[in-house]
Amino acid sequence: MRQRLVVLNYHQVPEQADSLRPDQVDRHVFRQQLKTLKYFFNVVDLDYGVDAMRAGNLPPRAVAITFDDGYRDNHDVALEELLRAQCPATFFIATDYLDGGRMWNDTLIESIRLTQKNTLSLEAIGLEGSLRLATNQDRIQAIRTLIPAVKYLELSARQSAVDKLARVCEVELPNDMMMSSLQIKSLAEAGMGIGGHTSSHPILLKLPLADAVSDIIRGRDALTQLLGKEPRFFAYPNGKLGQDFSYEHTQVLPELGFDAAFTTQWGYVNKELPSFELPRVGFCRTVGWKLTVKVLRSFFDSPVEFAQPDQLNTQVVLR
Ligand SMILES: [Zn+2]
Repeated sequence: MRQRLVVLNYHQVPEQADSLRPDQVDRHVFRQQLKTLKYFFNVVDLDYGVDAMRAGNLPPRAVAITFDDGYRDNHDVALEELLRAQCPATFFIATDYLDGGRMWNDTLIESIRLTQKNTLSLEAIGLEGSLRLATNQDRIQAIRTLIPAVKYLELSARQSAVDKLARVCEVELPNDMMMSSLQIKSLAEAGMGIGGHTSSHPILLKLPLADAVSDIIRGRDALTQLLGKEPRFFAYPNGKLGQDFSYEHTQVLPELGFDAAFTTQWGYVNKELPSFELPRVGFCRTVGWKLTVKVLRSFFDSPVEFAQPDQLNTQVVLR
């Protein structure tokens, strides 16, 4: 495991456990995880980690921490815990949602969470059948059914499906789930890294390449304007090769000034990997020795598949 870096991937870190997202870490779990990581591993800043990996002087058992999307609890909860544990982290931000935005998946989840209804007919959102919402377990199941049903819809159809769902659920949705621009600035001022994650968080493969590129550029430019310097790293929304991004996106990013990009493919990072397909790993609520074992094992998990020029995605090609 010499000269290997394991990059961890987080999203939200709410103050309390979320009954509708049973796998989600919360403040207490995150604190425990940081303690374990500090004790058994060398938690490094992602910038330093990538530089040291390239120079061949990574410390042993090097681990870097990243967050995707830009949730407000990253500032309110995760930052406090990171500072307390003296752990650096990098936050990949989808810039359209700063200052009061809400991502489609949260519109869906919060609609299911807040509705007073006990059953939900799916006709209104263009699906068949109905869902029971009487118990917490019903609602977890409803979310697990609905997210994959709308995730890969064409982007405007996806937004319209979740907007209709919110109307059918008759709920008032929160507008404070994501960070403000000022909170991003304070993450950066606290020494944390900020990376690009597009502006509207599209599935890049669902867009014509030119639209995908302009979404990436808008996100990059918004961060540059906010922080006074271009983001060095990028993370692909959703992050699975062939499903969310393809070879052509890996080719465009260096031209846009990025130095490396991260996926959600599982495995460690080393110098031999293509810089625009660096894998990351996620651990949900695992803590203690189980976490130690899982992180240790990731130092031996090599990603198996990389983008090839002939794997142009048909969705893009056919347009
Ligand atoms: Zn994301």
